[in-house]
Amino acid sequence: MKKNKHSNIPIFLPELACPHQCVFCNQEKISGILSTPQPSDVQRITETYLGTMKEKRIVDIAFFGGSFTGIPVDLQEKYLKEAFKFIQKGLVSGIRISTRPDYIKQDNLDLLKKYGVTTIELGAQSTNNEVLNKSGRGHNFEAVKRASALILENGFQLGLQMMIGLPYDTFQRSLQTANDIAATGAQSTRIYPTVIIKETALEKLYNSGKYKPLSIEEAVLWAKELVKVFEKNKILILRIGLHPSEELVDGKSLIAGPFHPSFKEMVMSKIWNELIFKELENKNPDKVTFRINDKQLNYAVGFNGCNKRELTQRGIITRFTADSSLSKYQFDVSYN
Ligand code: SF4
Repeated sequence: MKKNKHSNIPIFLPELACPHQCVFCNQEKISGILSTPQPSDVQRITETYLGTMKEKRIVDIAFFGGSFTGIPVDLQEKYLKEAFKFIQKGLVSGIRISTRPDYIKQDNLDLLKKYGVTTIELGAQSTNNEVLNKSGRGHNFEAVKRASALILENGFQLGLQMMIGLPYDTFQRSLQTANDIAATGAQSTRIYPTVIIKETALEKLYNSGKYKPLSIEEAVLWAKELVKVFEKNKILILRIGLHPSEELVDGKSLIAGPFHPSFKEMVMSKIWNELIFKELENKNPDKVTFRINDKQLNYAVGFNGCNKRELTQRGIITRFTADSSLSKYQFDVSYN
């Protein structure tokens, strides 16, 4: 049976009442939203989105961009009430919120449950306490574990987001973070490379030479290994790379770091690069045809054709064809 596609109606509440100042964060600049939508805006935003959806989809209203459970309770309730009306009318199926691990208590969860929240995404960012500390997160890994367990016990879906290349992060630490996220029982994740945004503490650290961001090549190689961990553990990867907001794309807010609007494509291309060249190991073909799952075809050819180009440079004439009967990483090769 064909599954209905899933969509979020994102409502960004940038740094609303967030008393923290994580070294990397300037939510306004990341989300590209300079004024915070009010509860009275929820209806209009939701109706506008619903009006643009042509096919049947599973739709969630998603309060993202800040720490939802850090907002004063009466204001949380106002936002939730507006969103809940759409659930009651059968127009959306759930509500998602994002928040910090140390803002999850039973009281918060009771309120979220009352208004039909289905998924809670926590910014875990790292499970290494030194990385968390140097990034000014104000919580440790214990807080992530505690909050995750409580969320799952209360019957919510759990998402744990992670960042790579934070201060004091290493490849091993990021790999450990992915494995720890899998061990908590999270159903979904997002992988965000750390970039330096204007007017953040990270900008100062960078300018004084105390922080060096990952290069785009490093970030792609790290993320490729994390994708493997998450896929092995059947964790849904909702996003690889930052959302390309206008502020980031035109570079106005971006000081430095591995931002690329096609970051996911670059990561997936690397995964396919490994699969392809492993297949060709110890073989010396002049010609090769790969049959690839249709949704993976572009990744196999590579971002800007990079995998195909590498094959050509090695003197191999390559054809790629799509075959929807193949599963995600399954492929068929012929050498004539
Ligand atoms: S907790 Fe979230 S919203 Fe608050 S400063 Fe840190 S990243 Fe930004």
